[in-house]
Amino acid sequence: MSIAEIISVGTELNLGQILNTNAQFLSSSLAELGINLFYQNVVGDNEQRLCETFLRALERSDVVILSGGLGPTEDDLTRESVAKALGRELVLDDEAVTVLQNQFVGRVMPQNNLRQAHVPEGGFALPNPKGTAPGICIPVSNGKLVFLLPGPPRELQPMFNEAVVPIMREHKLTQGSFFSSTLRCSGIGESAVAELLADLIDRQTNPTIALYSRLGEIDVRLTTRASSLTEAAVIMAPVKGEIVSRLGSHIFGEDACTLASALLQQLATSNYSLSVAESCTGGLVGHMITNEPGSSLSYMGGVVAYANNVKETMLGVSLDTLLSHGAVSEQCAREMLEGALGAFRTDAAIAITGIAGPSGGTVEKPVGTVFVAVGCRGKNNVVRLNLRGDRAAIKERAAKEAIRQLLLLLRG
Ligand code: AMP
Ligand code: MG
Repeated sequence: MSIAEIISVGTELNLGQILNTNAQFLSSSLAELGINLFYQNVVGDNEQRLCETFLRALERSDVVILSGGLGPTEDDLTRESVAKALGRELVLDDEAVTVLQNQFVGRVMPQNNLRQAHVPEGGFALPNPKGTAPGICIPVSNGKLVFLLPGPPRELQPMFNEAVVPIMREHKLTQGSFFSSTLRCSGIGESAVAELLADLIDRQTNPTIALYSRLGEIDVRLTTRASSLTEAAVIMAPVKGEIVSRLGSHIFGEDACTLASALLQQLATSNYSLSVAESCTGGLVGHMITNEPGSSLSYMGGVVAYANNVKETMLGVSLDTLLSHGAVSEQCAREMLEGALGAFRTDAAIAITGIAGPSGGTVEKPVGTVFVAVGCRGKNNVVRLNLRGDRAAIKERAAKEAIRQLLLLLRG
């Protein structure tokens, strides 16, 4: 198995000003390609330290991937440092000049942009459809490869997939193909999932099972090495079936599916329309739903009823409810739901009212207390949630759980 090493370049990374997502992307991609990764490095914009790190990496690895520092400004010195460390001149790459000039049609190209068209001798430019700085591939001695990739993730990721991977395959650095399938779960904590799947995770070999958690969601990812997607599906089927039966309705979809897309798909199968009434989430549910292409098919609209008098006037929540139960109550959530169903004349609706904090909590209703009401064609359900986290986290968890509750009601 070949060995790769990553060097993320940029002082902003060492200062913690940005998160090193390129390292995460590259590491997980390399793992899927069957390439070992023993070291990740982060170096500031400093020529000497960059040269040292690069030479050490090149000595012990077959592939060295650098990201960042390819820009046109003075502090971008990855290209120069690598050339210096390899003892190679920087030469103008005609292909790269053409690509650069094409991006400045009708505008004057600043002279310092020409720096970006230089590659260390023996190297060649990799096209960058998403930005100006081309990437660079430099074959060096012993069949080793060096890649220089731009820092912005939206440029680096397509360049890696479309240019770097094919070159690594050509050089026989990758091993077989990895296929993954992700089961997307919600409404359950990571430790609960880990407990339910403990024996499967313990004896995992093929496929491997990994859990990834994000706010209010857990991904269960199965990965297997196979010669084709069909073969991978056959290998994964028994383990996947077992996981599905254990996690049940906590699984809302697979792979790229989101809670909102799962809900929209469910609504579309019955041709149901949807509206929302949101208080503490401030429109987040509507945002999540309208992030999905095609949402206009089912989603009619929503009300952000933040103040009590808006809950009264726009949604018809009774003054009596607000006075006797409070705005954060099961009763209020129910009336907001009825209000949305009536005002928007939809088949289904979601209503949310709660305390996102940091203030406003009481002993009876601490911060994180959220009532979610969902309804569709006469069926409805209200749940009380006790959510953890800061204000933003509580809002996001509440919005996701509300979408999940309606999904459960529709699937139930
Ligand atoms: P650079 O190519 O070093 O000028 O980087 C350009 C931009 O890419 C930076 O401002 C960051 O926003 C982003 N960037 C650079 N390195 C990374 C990294 N390792 N992870 C995520 N973003 C990065
Ligand atoms: Mg930089």
